[in-house]
Amino acid sequence: MKQTMPIDGKFELMALPYAPEALEPVISAQTLGFHHGKHLQTYVNNLNAALPGSGLEGLSLEEVVLQSQGGMLNNAGQILNHNMYFSQFRAPRADNAPAGRLAEAIARDFGSFEAFKETFVKAGSTLFGSGWVWLSADEDGLLTITQEPNAANPIQRGLRPLLTMDVWEHAYYLDYQNRRPDHLAALWQIIDWDAVAARYEK
Ligand code: MN
Repeated sequence: MKQTMPIDGKFELMALPYAPEALEPVISAQTLGFHHGKHLQTYVNNLNAALPGSGLEGLSLEEVVLQSQGGMLNNAGQILNHNMYFSQFRAPRADNAPAGRLAEAIARDFGSFEAFKETFVKAGSTLFGSGWVWLSADEDGLLTITQEPNAANPIQRGLRPLLTMDVWEHAYYLDYQNRRPDHLAALWQIIDWDAVAARYEK
């Protein structure tokens, strides 16, 4: 994974690689505005405020996640998770699916793309409380789906994260209210499989 480094001791809010309305109707511009501009910004501000004197200054975001605890871990984890989340989307496509080696690995490890999607959405729907559902690769390239609570990231398990869905209510409540499974199922339309494949090929 490409390491995210602080600049002059501070991490920056990632720039979205698309316009705020580009993901509609799957994710509204309003949800994106709050999620990126308010929630993620707050995690960035909190981590930057906590870094001085922590002994973790100058480390990459990934190293901070692996070496910190408590509030610092929560904020660093949320930044890492959201940076991956927001950089894996593109405008909706009806028949959106992976290709190449990633598609072959999904079929190998889950039976089919349809079976993978079903298992992934079920994992996200049954995660109790706030957290994230992930597709990751292990050191042999085998794919696995994990449920991670709160701000946890698969790098803490030694896995290489490829794809994630945020199941915190702030990710979907304005658009889908309590219908988390409907939100997760809709996200398949906007997954940028080229971005996910690039993470897999690294
Ligand atoms: Mn979120």
